[in-house]
Parts: sequence; structure tokens; C-alpha cells
Amino acid sequence: MKFYILTLFPEMVMSGLNTSIIGRAMDNGLIDIEAINIRDYTIDKHKKVDDYPYGGGAGMVMQAQPVYDAYQSIVKKVGHNIPCVYLTPQGRTFNQSIAKEFAILDEVVLLCGHYEGIDERVLEEIVTDYISIGDFVLTGGELPAMMMVDAISRLVPGVLHNDDSTVQESFSNNLLEYPQYTRPEEWNGKRVPSILLSGNHAKVEKWRYDMSVERTRKYRPDLLEQ
Ligand code: SAM
Repeated sequence: MKFYILTLFPEMVMSGLNTSIIGRAMDNGLIDIEAINIRDYTIDKHKKVDDYPYGGGAGMVMQAQPVYDAYQSIVKKVGHNIPCVYLTPQGRTFNQSIAKEFAILDEVVLLCGHYEGIDERVLEEIVTDYISIGDFVLTGGELPAMMMVDAISRLVPGVLHNDDSTVQESFSNNLLEYPQYTRPEEWNGKRVPSILLSGNHAKVEKWRYDMSVERTRKYRPDLLEQ
């Protein structure tokens, strides 16, 4: 899967994604991430990419032209339009089922805003989906884009060592995952639940399911209602 990230801060995005599991997935050619600097496409002689909002008000707005030309540079390179997601607090809230929707795509463009956002006219031209990562406002779309890349990439076959990891984890079946333990058997006076040491797979599965339901009821009762 190929991610194109349109941003004013490509180094932030690449340094954040170039490590651990996502970095290895890139090294192994399972995913590809290309960060494109919107500023490279401005026709302003001072390399400006933003201006004051019409109608007045606080902050600056990213201009349509550099964003449009940066997107078109991708279209020109690949020879067809690519779904383009604008990261915005005004979008539908990202979750695991949206991550699954995206994981079946071959390519996607993630557009990161900054300042007060982006001129509406270019959004109308190129954006196919509006995604928020939650009901709060960040300074830019870079962290949201990185979160999307991470959540989507780990669903791409081969990215995780064990593809089963994504089958039972939190939000599959609208449940949070059961508690996990590793060695040693006793730490700080606390023992691992004995059922996990019993070797009885059926009982372990039943215990895990019960724990999943219990934690979901405690922390996310809204998921159980779904
Ligand atoms: N003025 C905008 C509003 O009130 O809707 C907020 C702009 S925000 C300061 C700057 C940029 O950060 C946005 O263009 C968007 O790309 C990104 N951003 C901020 N919060 C976000 C969120 N919760 N989810 C996704 N992107 C977000």
C-alpha cells in the first residue's frame, strides 16, 4: 500500500514513521510512504503558502494553489486520481473499522492542514473523505496522518509478524482486549492468573472472553450497546 502525505512538515512525518514495525514494513516493501512538501509547489516568490482569512478573524489559512498543485503532481506521476483524505477535526471520527476500509486500498493521499486550515475551494476540488482523530483541535494534520498510517499499515498482510494479532485485539467484535501477562510468573507480589498457566486452551479462551466483556462494560459500555 502506498501513502502519499501532503504536508508542510515532511521531516516530522517521516521521522515519526521510520521506526519499529512501520519502518520495517517500509524496508520490506509492504508499504511505501512518500511525504510531499506542499511548500515546494507554491508559485509565490517568497515561498509563502498561507494568507489572511477573507472576512477577518484569527490566524492564517493555507492557500489553494500549492495544495492543488502538490496533489496534481501525484496524479500526474501515477496517471490517475487517488482518494484524498483531509485530516480535520470536522471529519468523521477515525476508528478501527475505518482503518479496515482504508487497508484494502492500494494508495491514498493524506492531506495535512496547518494554521486555521485550508482554503475551502481546493478541498472541494480534491478531497474525497474528511477524517478526524477525535473531538479536540491540534496544531496540524501531521500527527493524525501518522496515526492513520500506523493503524492502517498494521492491517496490511505481512506487516505484523502474526496476522492473527489483529483478529482478537481491541475493537474486533466491539470488545476491548483481555489483560495480557508475560514472564515472570510473579512480579511485585502479584501472580499471573493461574488459568493462563493451566495449558487448558478452552478455559483460557473462556477466561479471556469473560475478561474482555468485563473490561468493555467497565471502560467502554457504549461498545457493548453496539
Ligand atoms: N480552524 C479549524 C477548525 O476549527 O475546524 C482547525 C484548524 S487546526 C488548528 C489545523 C489543522 O490541524 C487542520 O487543518 C487539520 O489538518 C489538523 N487537525 C487539527 N485537529 C485535528 C483532528 N482532531 N483530527 C484531524 N486533524 C486535525
